[in-house]
Amino acid sequence: MLSFGQNELKKCISSIGLYNSKAKNIIGLSKILIEQYNSKVPTDFDDLVSLPGVGRKSANVFLNSGLGVPTLAVDTHVFRVSNRVGLVKEKDVFKTEQSLLNVVPKKYLLYAHHWLVLHGRYVCKAQKPSCETCIIHDLCEFECKRFLELGEGFAFVGRQFHLDVGDEDFYIDLLFYHLKLRCFIVIELKDNKFKPEYAGKMNFYLSAVDNLLKHSTDQPSIGLILCKSKNNVLAEYTLRDMTKPIGLAEYRITENLPENIKTALPTIEELEAELSKISDEEK
Ligand code: SF4
Repeated sequence: MLSFGQNELKKCISSIGLYNSKAKNIIGLSKILIEQYNSKVPTDFDDLVSLPGVGRKSANVFLNSGLGVPTLAVDTHVFRVSNRVGLVKEKDVFKTEQSLLNVVPKKYLLYAHHWLVLHGRYVCKAQKPSCETCIIHDLCEFECKRFLELGEGFAFVGRQFHLDVGDEDFYIDLLFYHLKLRCFIVIELKDNKFKPEYAGKMNFYLSAVDNLLKHSTDQPSIGLILCKSKNNVLAEYTLRDMTKPIGLAEYRITENLPENIKTALPTIEELEAELSKISDEEK
């Protein structure tokens, strides 16, 4: 590898992301293996993570897949799936790894990483999990299940879903994806009466979701604002000239939404009932 050289290596791996730093790390790592490890890859976890470009995940993948050690490498898919499904309930990668080692039976540890990665890559995808066809749907604790009962194709994407717009952080109360309508559905929950500025904010969220998340084949996103109380006149004036499909409480999932969208969505009463069930459980 050293005689091959960093520049030649770069050319060979230029189709993958971060190829510059990867090539640099591979050359640096090769040098260390020759000089300090007698040209052999170490089998000790701490030695592995001391090598350039080798983190916890890579070290665990090597130990697990290369040497058959019962470890569990946590990448973005393993982290998302194991926490979504309810195998563990952790906030960071390290704790997820530790908790998974406690709950996954030892006899499955050799393959658990691959199963979780493949499930995350092809079924339990970050933006649009395929809950309707998922073979572990009955075992999964993900909140989307209760929303699936509301209407066919209604899939939960996230709660307090983070958006980075112009280097500022925004959080959507609830984000769904409708598998039949092929569009995102943004829901904002307000525990007070409706204010005209809520519609402006929803308009902003819809633009951001359409710009940042929407695939070119998706339909424009739909917004629903749920308020505790509403003044019909105020709502009428606020939404009258809005061009984006925004619905407000039960009386105004109307003019801005095409008929097929209205019938495919759960009613506001159904949503409110489900949301109050969730908040009761969280208390
Ligand atoms: S039911 Fe949905 S959230 Fe749960 S594992 Fe399957 S795809 Fe993921």
